[in-house]
This record gives sequence, structure tokens and C-alpha cells, in this order.
Amino acid sequence: MRLALIHISQETNDFNPVPTTLADYVAYGIYEGQEVIDRLTGRGQVGGHLAAAGGAETVPIIRAWACAGGRITREAFDFFQEKIRAGLQAAGRIDGLALQLHGACAAEGIDDVEGAQAALCRELLGPNVPIVLGLDHHANITRQMVDACTAIVGHRAQPHDQFDTGQVGTTVLMRIINEKLRPTTAWRKIPLVTHQEQFLTAQGPMKRWFDRAREMESDPRVLQASNYPMQPWLDVAEGGWATIVVTDNDQALADTLADELAALAWSMREAFMQRTAIAVDDAVMAAERAPKGVVVLSDTGDTVFGGAAGDSNLILESMLRQGTTSPALIPLISPTAAARLTEAGEGAEVTLPLGGDATPFFTPLSVTGTVRKVADGRLDLTADNQADSQGEIDMGRTVIFEVGPATLLISTLRGVAGNLPSVWRAFGIEPTEYKIAVVKTASNFQFFAPITSQVIRVDTRGPGQSDVMTLPWRRLPRPIWPLDPI
Ligand SMILES: [Zn+2]
Repeated sequence: MRLALIHISQETNDFNPVPTTLADYVAYGIYEGQEVIDRLTGRGQVGGHLAAAGGAETVPIIRAWACAGGRITREAFDFFQEKIRAGLQAAGRIDGLALQLHGACAAEGIDDVEGAQAALCRELLGPNVPIVLGLDHHANITRQMVDACTAIVGHRAQPHDQFDTGQVGTTVLMRIINEKLRPTTAWRKIPLVTHQEQFLTAQGPMKRWFDRAREMESDPRVLQASNYPMQPWLDVAEGGWATIVVTDNDQALADTLADELAALAWSMREAFMQRTAIAVDDAVMAAERAPKGVVVLSDTGDTVFGGAAGDSNLILESMLRQGTTSPALIPLISPTAAARLTEAGEGAEVTLPLGGDATPFFTPLSVTGTVRKVADGRLDLTADNQADSQGEIDMGRTVIFEVGPATLLISTLRGVAGNLPSVWRAFGIEPTEYKIAVVKTASNFQFFAPITSQVIRVDTRGPGQSDVMTLPWRRLPRPIWPLDPI
């Protein structure tokens, strides 16, 4: 058996105006051919595919991953269409395609990147070669994706286990081929767009919804039941939540179960809107007064894993204005500040504006501080991040800058900011010596968890903000709850 493998992933945030370019993919590595296998065996969604593929031969075509951010450029979109076309044309006869995409990627002028990629694969492979599409469950499911693919599977957990999704997708693909199954899909759009504070699958309404999908899969007639709470920053024409049930040749069963999963999500819509984040000044003082560290302050609005730009200065501003004294770690992504501080050099005292580089949500804040370190931002975080494939990253020129109680990590390129303790350690800073650590994520606290005393979600504005009501939506289909009464 020969299985082609394509993995292309980026999550788009339509409220971050900075486009995602090919250079952003290059920063995380674009691998082609055998290099895909050599670099990713045992890791991420590709590793999951390889583990499940067993004795089957894999024909690796491309793996490309970029950090979440603004829409991808048309150049990047065209580049990947060409790679898919050339790769599948050169692959020879294949028995199936393991297609691993994100599902919430948009390009300049194209709302549904993955739908277009899946449609191209179908066009090249013809109607009979099975394509199993593995998606992030924050995907926006579209008609084009469903029509192009034989079956669709999604992440089963948040934080995500990409390895698991790779295994599940390829297991389904091989069953379709070996057992000559007839996959039958039912899918439902659900008119919801809720914030991320209830997105963890280990608790609350999301656990209940995902657990029910797992129960459905215990029926041998059900190949996959997958839920898609779309990430709430994708402003596209077909936007909204979805659920997909794939059975073996049983449309009635697929329809019944998809209806049930859609109704279950809808019935819990108020629970999905429960908030835990507190006001910035209150969160900062709660951390200041906490009996011990490390207190993680989650900068929800500036979540770089949700595609924000990492340029928020709101928590720093609050600390300086309120005169806190607890030592605090704060990441910031700012090419201009990194360049200026690099020029000043280690040991220099500098006054400069910080924050608000990229997005209209923030106003630059004038601060004075001392340059402690200037370094190259190439890091290998593989050891911390086995579930994901993006272990090798390039943060560009990175500066450690001391401002009052804050130790700032100011990087040039977008990406993980300071969301992993090992990023700080790479620059000679031990996070356990700090009382407070600001992370630019609203859900991915797993990296800091071993050294965290408590997590406080901060109600910050920004491209990833929890207040979905005031985001400048333009393209989302209406009516949609809670933006409209339904
Ligand atoms: Zn996701």
C-alpha cells in the first residue's frame, strides 16, 4: 500500500492585519520528500501518520507549518497549490492520501484555503482514491472540504495532541482501503462563535460535547465523530461551529448522530459563554499579592497561538502604573524595539516606545530600561513539545530588556513568544525565580504547568480577545449567536 502525505498548517486571525508570508513558514521549516520523514518521525501529526501507517509505504510530499497570524499572502497560497500539484503528479500510483491541514486558514482574497487545497487534491487524484483530511478542531468546516474528502477527522483534545490526530486519520484511511469501507458523512453547521475561555476539552461544556462524540465512536458502524468549535477570530463567509459524523455506509445513522451533536452544542451555548477572565488591574494586583509564584497571567487578547501579533503592552502598563514590585516575565514581539535595543547594545539604558507595533488595539507606551542581553533567536524546543511538530523555531533577533519589575523578552519574529519556560531559559533566565509570568495564550498553559502556582486569565483586548461581541466582524454569516439573537 502506498499513501501520500501532505501536511500544511496555519491558523488565521482576521483581526491581526499583519499578513503571514512564506518567510513565516520558512522560520518553522518547510520540508519536502524524505526530509519530512527524517525530521518528524515520532513527532506531531506527521509522526502520528507514520506510526499508524505500519508496513504501508509513505510518499511524503510536503510539510509546512507557520505560526498563527494574519491571512496568508496570495504568494504563499499559490506556492502551496503548486507544491501539491507537482507532488501528487510525481507521486505515481497511490492508494490513499493522508491530508493534514489546519482548517482555519484564510488567504488574501480566499476565505477557505483548506477547501481549495482539498479540492485540488481531489481534482488530481480523481474520484476513487480515498482522501482522509485531518484538521485542527478549531477549523471552519466548509462545503468544499466535505465534498472533496472521503472522511474528515479532527483533534480530540485541547491542548491539542497532533500525534493522536495523525494516527486517527491514517488508521481511518487504511481501514477504508483494507476493509473496502464506504464512508458516509453527515455534517451540520452550528451558528455559534464563542470565546476561547471554555475551549479546554478536559472540563465544562466542551468536555461534555467531546465525550459524547467519543461515546458515539464505540458503535462499530461509526468511523469518526468530530466536533469543530471554530476559533473565534476567523471572519469568513462560511464561518461558524460544525460537527461531522462519518459512518460505514449508513447515512441515516450519520444524520441522526450529527443532529444530536449539533443540538447538544446549541443547548450548552450559555455555558460556552461563561467567562473567567478578570480586569487587567485586578489581575495584576492579584498576582502581586499572591502568596507565592509562579503566577501565570494569561494575556487572552494577545494570544499568539490564536494569531495575535504579540504586541500588547496592557499588562506592562498596568504594572508600571500601579507600582507593583514582584519580578515579572513579559514577552513582547516588536521588530522595531528589538532593532533599536540591539543597536544600543548590552548594558545600555534606553527610553523608547513599546507595544502597538502591529495591531490597532494598542498604543505605544514610553518606558525606560536597561538592555541585559542581545541574542540570536534560533531555538530548538523539540524536547518540550513532542506532541507538536514545531520544535525548531526562529524568533529572530531577541533582546532581554529590564523595565522596573519586568523582565521583557522582545523578539523580532512572531511565534511562541514566552509561552514555554524553555524559551526564557534559552536566554539565561530561570522562570522559577520570578513571581509572575505573562503568557500570550488563553489556553495553552501546559508548558508552564509544572512550575505554576495559579493561572489568572486577564480580560485584555486584542485580536484574540474574549469579547467576541465588539470584534469588527464583516464577513461572518448572520445571524449567529451570541452576536445576534436566535
Ligand atoms: Zn486549535
